[in-house]
Amino acid sequence: MINIRDLYYEELEELLLKMGEKKFRAKQIYAWLYKGIESFDEMTDISKELINKLKDNFILNQLTLINFQKSKDGTIKYLFQLNDGHAIESVLMKYKYGYTACISNQIGCKMGCNFCASAKIGFVRNMTPGEIVGQILKVQKESGEVVSNIVFMGIGEPLDNYDNVIKAIRLINDPKGLNIGARHISLSTCGIVPKIKMLADENIQCNLCISLHSSHDNVRTDMMPINKVYNIEEVLEACKQYIAKTNRRITFEYALVDGVNDSREDAIHLSRLLKGMLCHVNLIPVNKIKGGKYEKSSTEKILAFRDTLNDRGIVATVRRELGSDISAACGQLVRDQKQSE
Ligand code: SF4
Repeated sequence: MINIRDLYYEELEELLLKMGEKKFRAKQIYAWLYKGIESFDEMTDISKELINKLKDNFILNQLTLINFQKSKDGTIKYLFQLNDGHAIESVLMKYKYGYTACISNQIGCKMGCNFCASAKIGFVRNMTPGEIVGQILKVQKESGEVVSNIVFMGIGEPLDNYDNVIKAIRLINDPKGLNIGARHISLSTCGIVPKIKMLADENIQCNLCISLHSSHDNVRTDMMPINKVYNIEEVLEACKQYIAKTNRRITFEYALVDGVNDSREDAIHLSRLLKGMLCHVNLIPVNKIKGGKYEKSSTEKILAFRDTLNDRGIVATVRRELGSDISAACGQLVRDQKQSE
């Protein structure tokens, strides 16, 4: 059966027509869906007859809250269960400009990044557009807050679930859907080159973030096995094409790991690679995961790395650490849950 939240507005209109209903019903139904209802029966201005028809033709995917952790800084990490029993994580973060939801797009991940707890879960399946969007609705419902920014930085590689993620972005963006501007949506990828090129042609104004983490292929391959498939040179070439087509600035994410990628030489090499690109470097102290081999760099080293980049004309900032007192590493809560089963 079709998950009704997987549908574009126009798709819902078409299906309602086929069911012998008037097109305008889509407007009422869509409004309810994006209010975050969890059962068709909550649509109080829809006739019983139509509700029964909807139940016969669609499912309404639900996310069930199974656990959450709240940080001292207000960050809330949610563990949600999907209809098929699998668990995913979503995080709500408070910034000066509003609330940001960090959402998952796959159950597990195939990419195997060595610093990531999600990689240890193993890949199960892609999430559907409705499940992806459903996280935002559920986070709003649980927290009582309105989310204004979305980051695809939870579990999963968004460009490995390309069609569903693109559809989810359009649903989030749709004024009849969540109505969050594309410029408030960030998509983070480990660097799947052909999909970066495809994304450039989508005419979506979202922010593209590339997990780079090293300017040396041998180090990057050790941290991120995807580098064996698409090396740094290929990733940067795709980024240059993306910038040329979209005229949008790219963010390079760089998780600083003590003694691995945080030397002055690393910063100088990185600045040479990025010279002249419309970009920004986001430095992140690596999140220690249980059983992981990477330790975060000291604050002095992180600031020195930033200054070396800035001195060479590359705009670099250090990301504020949120939720450091909870299981903040992406995928850690799902891992903890699995280990306790
Ligand atoms: S960092 Fe992202 S791409 Fe890499 S394993 Fe984790 S979820 Fe997957």
